[in-house]
Amino acid sequence: MPLHTVTYASLPEMAIAPEAIGFDIDGVVADTMEAFIRLARDDYGHTVRPEDITCFEVEQCLDMPRETIGEIFGRLLDDPLGSGLRPMAGAVETITAMSRRGPVTFITARPEPAPLARWLETRFGREVSRRCRLITSGDHDNKADFIRACGLEFFVDDRARTCRMLAAEDGISPIVFDQPWNRGRHQLPTVRHWGEIRALCGV
Ligand SMILES: [Mg+2]
Repeated sequence: MPLHTVTYASLPEMAIAPEAIGFDIDGVVADTMEAFIRLARDDYGHTVRPEDITCFEVEQCLDMPRETIGEIFGRLLDDPLGSGLRPMAGAVETITAMSRRGPVTFITARPEPAPLARWLETRFGREVSRRCRLITSGDHDNKADFIRACGLEFFVDDRARTCRMLAAEDGISPIVFDQPWNRGRHQLPTVRHWGEIRALCGV
């Protein structure tokens, strides 16, 4: 436990160092919504609009069979490359620039690191991915322990509940990555795109 801990109520004025900030993958680094909507349309014949996804547990807000939703998420978990999962606009440029200054940390609730490690290497390149740390927590509600173990102060996530839980922790400042499913569900500092993260990190 550090001697002095600060939780920021708003985004800091000074640049955040790469080793002080971590990122969730799905919905932050990876455009999981685009992939979900595309697979639902092309392979299952369901039309989903981004604004229809009003909650993180999508089976509660989409008119789609639970099994189909489970199958699509299963594909995105097991084979992100084969599913055509893309990085969010601007993520590659910002993470590449950050990785030149220090290690970049990803903490995902996904259970298996291997498919995502291959995805990172392919989408971000070997040089960049070698300077990244990928941690799979296996649970949406246990990220604080990993954030602390990595010595991070800031964490960017798209799940409102995760961010609210992190805000209650000493010394961790969550930053919400704006998505339709977290709007109106928190009052925390927010970024809308990777250009804002880039500015925040001064890279
Ligand atoms: Mg996420």
